[in-house]
Amino acid sequence: MADLDLAAIHRQAAQELAGAPAEEILGWAADTFGSRAAISCSFGGPGGIVLAHMAHQRGLRLPLIFIDTGFLFPETYQLKEELESRWGLLVRTVHPSLSPDEQASRYGDRLWERDPDRCCFLRKVQPMAKILEGLDCWITPLRRDQGPSRASVEPIELHRLASGRALLKLNPLAHWTRQRLWNYVARHKLPYNPLLDRGFKSIGCVQCTAPAYGDNERAGRWQGHAKSECGLHTFTQVVSERRGLGPLSE
Ligand code: SF4
Repeated sequence: MADLDLAAIHRQAAQELAGAPAEEILGWAADTFGSRAAISCSFGGPGGIVLAHMAHQRGLRLPLIFIDTGFLFPETYQLKEELESRWGLLVRTVHPSLSPDEQASRYGDRLWERDPDRCCFLRKVQPMAKILEGLDCWITPLRRDQGPSRASVEPIELHRLASGRALLKLNPLAHWTRQRLWNYVARHKLPYNPLLDRGFKSIGCVQCTAPAYGDNERAGRWQGHAKSECGLHTFTQVVSERRGLGPLSE
């Protein structure tokens, strides 16, 4: 789909879906883009699971993108397998081009301690960038209240990839609070990563995830480094005028 079309679709969607519930945004994405739309799901936090559940309940065949860095917690892999079979999810598991051993041979042991930005680029950003080249719509569970680095996320954004391609990025939960997310999980009795009951607020690779306290959900990631994002949500460039859709009501 050409850039011009996506820009027009973005403008129209920002108007027509202003204030729409997350389920409606997902339905619109499936109708508009079919298999060229996909949901990011790390099986770490509950946001991706809530989006997957909404899609499952509405019978939307939106695939999930799961980036397997090779360093995830056993609980994360177990949850993915459980939900894959329970809901019949279409999960596209994405692997880095280098195995952990190959990365250690080329860049040295424990790259995450010396250069976590490079490690995240190799294991997360690079594989995701390849996948996004084949999509027109990327759906994520980002929320504004996750921390300062996500405070200005909009439900519907137009982005540009490094290649110059445009991409619609949807964040249907942008205005949801953590409490609202957990209310949804409880109401629908959804399974979630058990590490979240052990003090973890955001779950990624084993080496770079620790329990955290306070309101910033990202505080337990990359402790000892001035880093709160892996780069997945900063490597694309926002080209939309920031159009607020306003808080969603429930
Ligand atoms: S979270 Fe840590 S181990 Fe995982 S890719 Fe990033 S730096 Fe590497």
